Amino acid sequence: MAGVTDTMGRPVRDLRISVTDRCNFRCTYCMPKEIFGKDYEFLARDQLLSFEEITRIAAVFASEGVTKIRLTGGEPLLRRGLEDLIGMLSEIDGIEDLTLTTNGSLLARKAQALADAGLDRVTVSLDSMDDSVFMAMNDVGFPVDAVLDGIEAASAAGLDPVKVNMVVKRGVNEDSIVEVAEHFRGTGHIVRFIEFMDVGTTNGWNTAAVVPSAEVVERIGEKFPLEPADANYRGEVADRWRYTDGAGEIGVISSVTQPFCADCTRVRLSAEGRLYTCLFAVAGTDLRAAIRNGADDAELHALVTEVWSGRADRYSEIRSEVTKRRPKIEMSYIGG
Ligand code: SAM
Ligand code: SF4
Ligand code: SF4
Repeated sequence: MAGVTDTMGRPVRDLRISVTDRCNFRCTYCMPKEIFGKDYEFLARDQLLSFEEITRIAAVFASEGVTKIRLTGGEPLLRRGLEDLIGMLSEIDGIEDLTLTTNGSLLARKAQALADAGLDRVTVSLDSMDDSVFMAMNDVGFPVDAVLDGIEAASAAGLDPVKVNMVVKRGVNEDSIVEVAEHFRGTGHIVRFIEFMDVGTTNGWNTAAVVPSAEVVERIGEKFPLEPADANYRGEVADRWRYTDGAGEIGVISSVTQPFCADCTRVRLSAEGRLYTCLFAVAGTDLRAAIRNGADDAELHALVTEVWSGRADRYSEIRSEVTKRRPKIEMSYIGG
């Protein structure tokens, strides 16, 4: 499909929309309690984009070639009436894949309504099968079983295949890698092991805490032999590996050890309407201001294509001691 390309020839294909900056978890790698405590000021209601505003922006991107939309946050299922937004987005011409990333805590209750509204699939985050490890990571004492119930409810509602995201941190949950892989082998759900990233500035990231994906593949492969599988499409974030015995596949997301910026077709919209062309951006473009100042669709379109055509982001390829100290946007704000 035609459409705007950036300074490195990359088209825009995936739009990630953060619908809230709030979350009921305090994952240590994302919203550490010491920073996101009682006094932390989250966005007020009127600062959030309305569903109509989000849908207008999404339609502009669809006309430039976006085919995939992912709702995220914060915890997207905390946003009231999310089913209505899903219904609106699913009506946009050209959107082939409408998905959502969630911590799973509210999924058992909401999966059917989300599917009925037009959601295609979900990704559920789960960092361990071991309650003590998982509770220490989500830092609110949330149990593994309740997330598993959410995954099963999603599957029962037809939101298949469910992807399961596990962020791997050295010395924290690396011993859960094989156990998580084993649990989901043969279920049709696809686990994706994510290298701990230096998103934002508050999660205490350092290279020593990163478990390289190559090591993840090796550890699982020792017990359940794996072979590489081809990417499903250009720009797929995860490298795919399939079990040689036919029990399914896993993915590894190696943002730190094997950056994939050259094929990056993702754009992000924050809950208050700022547009970011990279997960590690330090500044965004205020689309909410444009909309609330009366921009019509043609003006919005011109603004969006101007931003994308000037894009030169390749943060993961140039990550260094210097870049890691940049005043980057927090993950819970920009959306994962
Ligand atoms: N709250 C939802 C959830 O946890 O699935 C959606 C938002 S969350 C920011 C999106 C994804 O980013 C999750 O799978 C989470 O594990 C991942 N994530 C958050 N911080 C990360 C970090 N520092 N490095 C790698 N992945 C991270
Ligand atoms: Fe919340 Fe998701 Fe961040 Fe965990 S990773 S704190 S669940 S937004
Ligand atoms: Fe895309 Fe930025 Fe991630 Fe590179 S670092 S893959 S440009 S979001």
